[in-house]
Amino acid sequence: MGSVSPTCPLLRDNVSEHIGETPLRCAKLEYFNAGGSVKDRIAKRMVEQAERDGIIRSGDTLIEASSGNTGIAIALMAAVKRYKCIIILSEKMSMEKEQILCMLGTRVVRTPAGVPIESPDSIISVAKCLQKEIPNSYVLDRYGNPENLAAHEFGTAEETLYQTSNKVDVVVAGAGAGGTITGLSRGLKKYDPNIILVGVDPLGSVLAVPETLNQSKAEYKVEGIDYDFVPGVLGQNSADFWIKTTDKDAFNYARQLVREEGMLVGGSSGSAIAGLVRLLALRPELNTEGKTIVLIFPDSLRNYLTKFADDEWMKTHGFLELTEKGVGKLEGS
Ligand code: PMP
Repeated sequence: MGSVSPTCPLLRDNVSEHIGETPLRCAKLEYFNAGGSVKDRIAKRMVEQAERDGIIRSGDTLIEASSGNTGIAIALMAAVKRYKCIIILSEKMSMEKEQILCMLGTRVVRTPAGVPIESPDSIISVAKCLQKEIPNSYVLDRYGNPENLAAHEFGTAEETLYQTSNKVDVVVAGAGAGGTITGLSRGLKKYDPNIILVGVDPLGSVLAVPETLNQSKAEYKVEGIDYDFVPGVLGQNSADFWIKTTDKDAFNYARQLVREEGMLVGGSSGSAIAGLVRLLALRPELNTEGKTIVLIFPDSLRNYLTKFADDEWMKTHGFLELTEKGVGKLEGS
């Protein structure tokens, strides 16, 4: 028994109690959450708060428009708490995410990729429409739900302070709905307003400020960070500055994290590294010993086995890079 650490979790009621308190190793490794992503934090809080408010109860139907991870997280909560669940997912999102949702007993509705948010075919319009049709159904709405921010303000941010002994200088995080960067900013800046928050946004998305950063109309394949509208939960000024990143960098850095660090991350973790590299080029004074920079690695390679984890997929899209460090499988190997 002497070899068991006092931090080893004791017997818990169900798997949702293994959400949060993720490891920190230069980055918060959010794939250690029970459902495999940072979104488990918000799903747990949104479901539990709606239950406390008497809005939902077991047997009801939870509906959410998602880029996959929030869907998986809500589906996991639905499985352990006996809700029905419908997740609306655009065609852009990976088959792996759909398969996981199906295994969790969720109905998946796919919508066309790239349609504007006001279109009746957008994930949000379809979610609203289904909610009107289905009795006892409820949209948790991570785009506007304050529990999204609270999950990061009181969860991710407080853990980051604790795990760095309050010595964090910079945090780099991608933005999708924006809960992560905005909630982190609230939680960290109330402790120390000098902590620098850096938002990462793919070229082609419109979440960065100033607006001039968003002129590219590039298509991007990285999943989970991006939007063609600014979600209500995102405070664009909660980041001190924004960095735009490319798919090629994101996927190659993600592959490098797997290969060289053993970190089984998803593509947006590679975007965070691309953001960090650019940050250190722009602000060399941050690249000094004694500065603590924390990245957020939101999800795992599990979601992308047929995408950037696949050499052929990387080649087809012109992303595969062969560096001296051996990223990418060598021809003929
Ligand atoms: N990375 C991935 C893989 C995601 O699924 C998400 C959430 N869509 C994010 C990053 C960004 O998180 P947030 O919605 O809190 O901005």
